[in-house]
Amino acid sequence: MGAHHPECPERLGAVNDHLLAKGLLDYMDACDAPLATREQLARAHSGFYLDEFAEIAQQVPEGGLVQIDPDTSINAYSYQAALRSAGAVVLAMDMVLGGKSPAAFCNIRPPGHHAERSNAGGFCFFNNVAVGIRHAVAVHGLERVALIDFDVHHGNGSEDILFNDEHVLMCSIFEKNLYPFCGDVPMGSNMINVGLPARSGGEAFRQAVEQQWIPALNAYQPQLIVISAGFDGHREDDMGNLGLVESDYEWVTRQIMKVANQHAQGRVVSCLEGGYALSALGRSAAAHVRVLIGAD
Ligand SMILES: [Zn+2]
Repeated sequence: MGAHHPECPERLGAVNDHLLAKGLLDYMDACDAPLATREQLARAHSGFYLDEFAEIAQQVPEGGLVQIDPDTSINAYSYQAALRSAGAVVLAMDMVLGGKSPAAFCNIRPPGHHAERSNAGGFCFFNNVAVGIRHAVAVHGLERVALIDFDVHHGNGSEDILFNDEHVLMCSIFEKNLYPFCGDVPMGSNMINVGLPARSGGEAFRQAVEQQWIPALNAYQPQLIVISAGFDGHREDDMGNLGLVESDYEWVTRQIMKVANQHAQGRVVSCLEGGYALSALGRSAAAHVRVLIGAD
């Protein structure tokens, strides 16, 4: 994205360092992310957009940047990175749904939840979770997948792609009046959008999860839960102002795992979205993963 951009390569190292320091990597298998195929991407994105993005990517000079939107640019390697980011989620689906692993955490960038069917934006190019969900439905035959998004920003791209998808229930909690400035009115009946005012804090966040997500998730009985795990709602992160802390991420993960264990054979694929204060990101992701893999 260029120098001094918050969506920086060090983010992945911060997460990995904390997983290592907490001893969690001892319980996890590390996998390299394959490149997503055109067929996989086309389940979530229009052919026009895929062609357009590939063409722009080819024109980026070595060492240069091309601006995609005011916050988002690409360098000569971004296209390959975006393909691997989406490919990681596809691999995670195959591992979890193929019974090779009970749960997966995709430590990936670029993030994906602002990428719409035909638009990049908000540091996102391919909608990683939507590509993964469509793969789970098309290849593994799932009928009910729940997508949970607790990034401080609303997952407008996921909503754009998945609204009224008969195989998906999407639950999003986000800070109101913050980028991408939408989500207050859900686009489809399969969306549960909860906008919280700035400075709501952990208690209001937990109450929203308990009152608005959990009953809907239990009624839906998902066969798989996918998480858009953004940690930019942390109080040390300047990107948002919800005022969450590590224990809130740990708590929400525990609630999600309860639903997964009850309905989905514990199957969860969690994918990194936002989180830009490196220390808070690493600590929060480790708190999340510890519960996700049952090491708590
Ligand atoms: Zn975010």
